Amino acid sequence: MTTAARQETRALAEWRAEIRAWLEANVPEGGLPDPESGDILDAHRAWERTLFEAGYAALHWPVEYGGKGADLDARIVFQEEYERAGAPPRMNLGGLMLAGPTIMKYGTPEQKEFWLPAILSCEHLWCQGFSEPGAGSDLANLRTSAVLDGDELVINGQKIWTSGGMHADWMFGMVRTGDPQSGHRGITYVMIDMRTPGIDVRPIKQINGQTGFSEVFFTDVRVPVANVMGELNGGWQVAMEALGHERGAGRRTYVKFLNDLAQLREFVTSLGQADDVGVREDLGRLLTAVSVYRHHVGRTVADSMRGHDGPEASYNKLYWSEMTAQIHEVGMRVLAARAELQDDEKSLPGAKQWQDNYWFSRATRIFAGTNQIQKNIISERVLGLPKEPRR
Ligand SMILES: Cc1cc2nc3c(=O)[nH]c(=O)nc-3n(C[C@H](O)[C@H](O)[C@H](O)COP(=O)(O)OP(=O)(O)OC[C@H]3O[C@@H](n4cnc5c(N)ncnc54)[C@H](O)[C@@H]3O)c2cc1C
Repeated sequence: MTTAARQETRALAEWRAEIRAWLEANVPEGGLPDPESGDILDAHRAWERTLFEAGYAALHWPVEYGGKGADLDARIVFQEEYERAGAPPRMNLGGLMLAGPTIMKYGTPEQKEFWLPAILSCEHLWCQGFSEPGAGSDLANLRTSAVLDGDELVINGQKIWTSGGMHADWMFGMVRTGDPQSGHRGITYVMIDMRTPGIDVRPIKQINGQTGFSEVFFTDVRVPVANVMGELNGGWQVAMEALGHERGAGRRTYVKFLNDLAQLREFVTSLGQADDVGVREDLGRLLTAVSVYRHHVGRTVADSMRGHDGPEASYNKLYWSEMTAQIHEVGMRVLAARAELQDDEKSLPGAKQWQDNYWFSRATRIFAGTNQIQKNIISERVLGLPKEPRR
């Protein structure tokens, strides 16, 4: 090992110790439940504020925008410690991971000054307005229209599956400013204040009873042209950048998966299944997959630090979503009928939460671009296979 590498390792170890001590002192006792209701939202905002004041809100943001400008490996260490400490799920990922970096790249100085500080301090919560009833994987088919009227855009249409839509202060969205047949050339990327008259947010109740996402309807919603990111009709390029962040940001830490496996092992033990050969094989297979994932992330981090950002965003998305789904599928088999009980006291501690997580794990194969679409990307852009036929 070179002296430089040894110093880097020492610096990372010091960083890990700093984070661990801070989290031990600050993580709210018992964690925080998912922000489904307004009551708990305040507690999540307070936690985000605590992170912000300590300088940990956005390690990946450059220092000039209030971030820490941390290297990828320092960020991975932070994520590992964050999961290990059982700290609350991050509240404003739409702002921190998607809107923020897009504004940094495409925003004017005024736009940066207005939006970036409020994302960092969690004063503004953000949601993503891309999908529509007829435009999911085929996003360029979107129909929500925006017509120029003086220095405003007048928006009409509907978005769907808008995560956090009912709590959001701002939406980064895509609207059609070209004619209906203009495909990806007639799309504009615009920031929309969710309190603007004409916006109607309707929560969608999911199979687990929660309302994590919404439909958002727009009726003559007037948005200043000054809120457009990049050029009018030039929003496709801006959006592709945001989607890259969404998939690549999926360098989820392996520690999350280890925590899930530890919980699974507790279920197995307390249900007397520790000697079951099939269960043991499943656990071994999953543990191996987590180790492979850990090293895969290590490699993509090293590549990225050398300036090579290839199609690994799609690999990562495929890998973490499949692992999340498979771990929860095995858990449901182990819990069997107990998984149906809605009350932890009659079942096993954590079983109800596991069931909720299982339902959500089904969605990981869909959001951030479905896994079939990721496979298309990999086959076309990595393997060089023929492009899929388009009508
Ligand atoms: C939990 C969750 C949160 C979400 N949050 C948001 C959000 O905040 N904002 C937002 O804008 N959207 C959000 N979405 C929507 C998500 O981006 C879309 O569901 C996704 O892009 C798929 O679109 P779709 O549902 O219209 O399915 P479709 O595109 O209609 O796909 C249906 C099926 O066909 C397959 N398919 C489609 N095209 C192809 C092809 N070319 N080749 C092979 N297979 C194909 C798909 O893989 C899928 O299995 C969220 C979704 C979920 C589940």
